[in-house]
Amino acid sequence: MSSETYDLVIRGERILTTAGIAPREIGVRDGVIVAMEPLGNGLDGATVVELAPDETLIPGLVDSHVHVNEPGRTEWEGFASATKAAAAGGVTTIIDMPLNSIPPTVTVDALEQKRAVAETQSFVDVGFWGGAIPGNTADLRPLHDEGVFGFKCFLLHSGVDEFPHLEADEMETDMAELKTFDSLMIVHAEDSRSIDRAPSAEGDQYSKFLASRPRGAENVAIAEVIERARWTGARAHILHLSSSDALPMIATAKRDGVHLTVETCPHYLTLLSEEIPNGATAFKCCPPIREASNRELLWQGLIDGTIDCIVSDHSPSTLDLKDLENGDFGVAWGGVSSLQLGLSLIWSEARKRGIPLERVVEWMSARPAKLARLQRKGQLALGYDADFSVFAADDTFVVDVNKLHHKNPISPYAGKALSGIVRTTYLRGEALDLEKPTGRLLRRGAA
Ligand SMILES: [Zn+2]
Repeated sequence: MSSETYDLVIRGERILTTAGIAPREIGVRDGVIVAMEPLGNGLDGATVVELAPDETLIPGLVDSHVHVNEPGRTEWEGFASATKAAAAGGVTTIIDMPLNSIPPTVTVDALEQKRAVAETQSFVDVGFWGGAIPGNTADLRPLHDEGVFGFKCFLLHSGVDEFPHLEADEMETDMAELKTFDSLMIVHAEDSRSIDRAPSAEGDQYSKFLASRPRGAENVAIAEVIERARWTGARAHILHLSSSDALPMIATAKRDGVHLTVETCPHYLTLLSEEIPNGATAFKCCPPIREASNRELLWQGLIDGTIDCIVSDHSPSTLDLKDLENGDFGVAWGGVSSLQLGLSLIWSEARKRGIPLERVVEWMSARPAKLARLQRKGQLALGYDADFSVFAADDTFVVDVNKLHHKNPISPYAGKALSGIVRTTYLRGEALDLEKPTGRLLRRGAA
């Protein structure tokens, strides 16, 4: 028996540790995991929580691909609504993308504006990516010094005019700059020239939209990222991989020692182009959701380690911009809102494939934490922040968009039956009630 009293003790048969799911007791003090002992040791806590037999304690998820859009486009999504959605979905850390807010996070001044609005209203911890656009090479080092986790660039029009894309040579120049302070370039890899020459997306047919964003455009751009990363020696990350064609060259690059990581998203792993109804612009995202055979290869890429992690690419807009009346894929905003649903979506698909919960959580927690070099997030282990959630893996629910916390009630998953419910989320040892925002702003290296 221990004589020390912890702020919080959680006990249960199913605690997801770094050595797998095991019967444990966890002691938390000052928001940090400071004890992990076999169940039965009887740790003493000011608050003691006993997990029910159907509950697993899992580390808080880290979602490194979230577009919050505040300030400037707060009607699309704001820090309060996005971070509530995160907390409800078991996500305890988000890293915000540098675009769709105004100003975009391409200068230190813009970063400070972001932080000022995020600071008082975030329910989970929030970090920031910077942006690399034409002409801001000199801003990259100051942004790095101010704590951004890396830099995003596009290789084609980003969707918003205030965040222009880089040509491959400009990306290489910026990669060389990032290499000097060991930062990371994260890339939206679709090739501008290929997309310009592809058929138009106009109209309500999903097949036309799919043809307008061919795999080839992704393949060419990914090849470009790989070579520029190889030439500069910089670290590069492929955002939202959709084209499974690119998996062999990614595997080859990794084998060669190119510093490359890759993410994919729940929509590419759970949805199928063959099943998307015409006019259903809730499904529009870029790169697009592709065919069943492509989806299976992405799962294979995760299992064999070619793909490193799964993150949401939560990219909301107003309902208006989704062009719901006409359902025109050429006009509608491209982006899927799934921050709150990611874990249940992936778990529902994974269990059908015989993939254990430990693996799913690794893809959505430890791996994105590693990508961002977050040192105290993504695992239930001594010295880590006490960020976790109580997950009922066998509970089921049907997605009701009006019960999701993100700002605009639209989702391609509406009406879908899913497995796995997050019952409670803890941030630094406090159960989140979604009334008082207690999230903190994270800086590179300090979290
Ligand atoms: Zn995105």
